[in-house]
Amino acid sequence: MKIAIFANKRAKSQAVKKKLYQKFVERHFVIDDKEPDVVVTIGGDGTLLSAFHHYEDKLEQVRFVGVHTGHLGFYTDWRDDEIDDLVISLQSDNRQSISYPLLEVSVKYADSPRRERYLALNESTLKRNSATMVTDVYIGGELFERFRGDGLCVSTPTGSTAYNKSLGGAVVHPNLEVLQIAEIGSINNRVFRTLSSPMIVAPNDWITFRPGKGSDFVLTVDSESYHNRQICEIQYKVSKKRIYFAKYRHTHFWRRVQDAFIGTEDENRMDL
Ligand code: NAP
Repeated sequence: MKIAIFANKRAKSQAVKKKLYQKFVERHFVIDDKEPDVVVTIGGDGTLLSAFHHYEDKLEQVRFVGVHTGHLGFYTDWRDDEIDDLVISLQSDNRQSISYPLLEVSVKYADSPRRERYLALNESTLKRNSATMVTDVYIGGELFERFRGDGLCVSTPTGSTAYNKSLGGAVVHPNLEVLQIAEIGSINNRVFRTLSSPMIVAPNDWITFRPGKGSDFVLTVDSESYHNRQICEIQYKVSKKRIYFAKYRHTHFWRRVQDAFIGTEDENRMDL
């Protein structure tokens, strides 16, 4: 099995990387950063997000494993003090995996005849900072509303616990192949109207934004942002591609949500 180790720059992650590297060499794994079968990330969800984009054009051959050096994350199943168990699991690997949906973002810019395509693991947002963002929103090709406000966020199920959640979006179980649209600071009064609540869109529907004129829109795709080009249209769909994780252990999704946002029962227990 060919393994790549992808760590963030923090000293703790670098120390874990060094230890893990030694263990892999001792057990005769092949370290191959270019064409790996398994990518082990060390850090947090942000590190897994960076690794996903680094290996974006190899998603069909790569499975990911996340080791966290802080709190339990949504893409990280192993603690840094469990790397011996992780190495043993990798040695008896039988290619079991679990996969999650991704978001395809297809953009038609005014200055190019070709659409540009991006892939998001968490979400893509469209914002305009210098003035109110105005965009028509279509669902399944039908005009739904004219949005005025700061911006809009379209997220995947696994991204629903990230930016989407800060915007009041619902947390979505990653077994569901859906997209969610959440508003960022919409204007609602007697003149302007938006739905004003997050929407969950069915797997075979697609979302289209046709923004007003201006080249000061900001398009984000996970941690990346794209500026200063006039956007004619953005289409969002559930991608045909998926992200695969090696499945040696499986933390129940709602347990992860509870751990990240609520805390354990013991921490919270009060006499009723
Ligand atoms: P960052 O600012 O370093 O990370 C933002 C935070 O989001 C980190 O705490 C990260 O967890 C967490 N996170 C990432 N993916 C998550 C997920 N799927 N579920 C729950 N939490 C998640 O930036 P970054 O590392 O480049 O990450 C970019 C992400 O930041 C974007 O995709 C977006 O979701 C998020 N973001 C959130 C807001 C907001 O909530 N207002 C605003 C902008 C961007 P770790 O600490 O484990 O890495």
